[in-house]
Amino acid sequence: MADPHARQLPTRRALLRGSAAFAAVAATASASAARAAAEPTTPGRRAGGVRPLDYPLAEWTPASFSNFTVANRPSQYPIEYVVIHVTQETFADTLAIFQDPSAAVSSHYVVGSADGRVAQCVEERNVAWHAGNWSYNTRSIGIEHEGWVDEPEWFTDAMYEKSARLTAYVCDAYGIPKNRTHIIGHSEVPGATHTDPGPLWDWDRYLGLVKAA
Ligand SMILES: [Zn+2]
Repeated sequence: MADPHARQLPTRRALLRGSAAFAAVAATASASAARAAAEPTTPGRRAGGVRPLDYPLAEWTPASFSNFTVANRPSQYPIEYVVIHVTQETFADTLAIFQDPSAAVSSHYVVGSADGRVAQCVEERNVAWHAGNWSYNTRSIGIEHEGWVDEPEWFTDAMYEKSARLTAYVCDAYGIPKNRTHIIGHSEVPGATHTDPGPLWDWDRYLGLVKAA
């Protein structure tokens, strides 16, 4: 993290904010209505002690309600893609950003580098703001991976394996084909200004693990 290359890159917060701006604007009108309708029930579920986890192996670390759009997927929008990201932040800082009501960014899941731990921050039925493209946000599950795109030491066996297990679960849940048409990088989202997960992400290895999971 002290690598001078990292400091030359824009921070993840800046990257995420730039990316999220369009989605946030596009979402504003429908989001406020949907949130007004749905918000009273979700905190109630939490207050009642029910953790709204989708992936059973995740830790529930909810994003701020300001950072995603309440929805009722997959009936409201089909879930057709898994979008793979690299955070440009630490695991802990990424969770903190998602909990910051002014961040205007979130993803459904965050996978840690050292041990592949998985945090869930947004319920799968809701639209996380991760792809920088409203249409893709509505139709995808976003998975962030702790690390920096130009620092290979973050791309550990544990992270690949645990993430692949998560992606396989998502694909099975929604009937998403386990291929590169449907499991895509953030950089492959139309209009993307982001480069993550970057050239160090081993897609062949990842797809193999997803299919074997
Ligand atoms: Zn990204």
